[in-house]
Amino acid sequence: MDLKRSRSVKLNDGHLMPVLGLGTYASEEVPKSKAGEATKVAIDVGYRHIDTAYLYGNEKEIGEAFREKMADGTAKREDLFYTTKLWATCLRPELVRPALERSLKNVGLDYVDLFLIHLPFAMKPGEELLPEDANGKYVLEVVDIRETWEAMEKCKDSGLTKSIGVSNFNHKQLELILKKPGLKYKPVCNQVECHPYLNQSKLLEYCKSKDIVLVAYSVLGSHRNPKWVDPNSPHLLEEPVLNAIAKKHSRSAGQVALRFLLQRGVVVLAKSFNEKRIKENFQVFDFELTPEDMKAIEGLNRNLRYSKFLFAEGHPYYPFSEEY
Ligand code: NDP
Repeated sequence: MDLKRSRSVKLNDGHLMPVLGLGTYASEEVPKSKAGEATKVAIDVGYRHIDTAYLYGNEKEIGEAFREKMADGTAKREDLFYTTKLWATCLRPELVRPALERSLKNVGLDYVDLFLIHLPFAMKPGEELLPEDANGKYVLEVVDIRETWEAMEKCKDSGLTKSIGVSNFNHKQLELILKKPGLKYKPVCNQVECHPYLNQSKLLEYCKSKDIVLVAYSVLGSHRNPKWVDPNSPHLLEEPVLNAIAKKHSRSAGQVALRFLLQRGVVVLAKSFNEKRIKENFQVFDFELTPEDMKAIEGLNRNLRYSKFLFAEGHPYYPFSEEY
């Protein structure tokens, strides 16, 4: 990825993905309209890559923002890169295409650019996003991810999505897909948590060796929603080393965190619903971290994962028991 020449990376299926995307996840109490407003601001600022998921419940609002920005001439559909994800209750192969069709209906588009398996482990199908048993425990089930993947391949063949990929997979789960007899398409990317405290150097090296793009989430230290993240975990953007490097470049710690990953060949997502920070996060193409800066930030790695999905620990496809 040459950041000076290009702000996109070529995926292994030939499509282009912009290297910086707007994240749109927010906790339940944030009105969904905020995601739509942020999407409009982001498109005005120059973002062309928007990341969402069925789980986030904001596909309709993002679709409205797209239509408004296409109608006023700011962006054409073919210049926008829209990612959505297959939720864990829909991993059974027969549920995959209907789930994508539901997302397409929500957003009001006739194709998405990227469709990802959100998590490698499955939950009980049904209307509930997080199905619970009588004791309030989430109900999981085992679905062979290779069968889910075959259904994803059919979605690509049908034209409902341009590209297909995965999220929260460890390297063994990627390997399972890559070694599947009769594999038609490789995942174009693996979207995982990645930031200076969890720099994913081994997974990144593995992905690069297979021409799979690593897309990073929680680059700015995560949404910290206590439903998913331990409130006692450290705040990444308060990290003194990041702040010292930021000061030297007259930038913010957030910009340094984003730039660090971009210079390692990682595609980054940055969530903000605040106009000033949406703009700030886009100003990462006009400065460069030195090799010494990069080394110092690499030294911050401590394998700190904000989103552990611990309720699925023990499931045969729980991804985070492996080193990478
Ligand atoms: P980030 O790490 O991107 O951002 C976290 C918080 O930082 C936001 O709440 C934001 O608040 C704040 N922020 C944004 N910019 C700045 C800045 N420049 N300085 C200081 N604070 C800032 O959060 P996420 O964990 O949400 O990850 C990003 C996206 O990745 C998600 O929105 C989602 O699209 C995706 N994701 C995917 C997952 C998966 O399982 N595949 C899991 C988690 C996330 P504010 O809005 O107030 O600016």
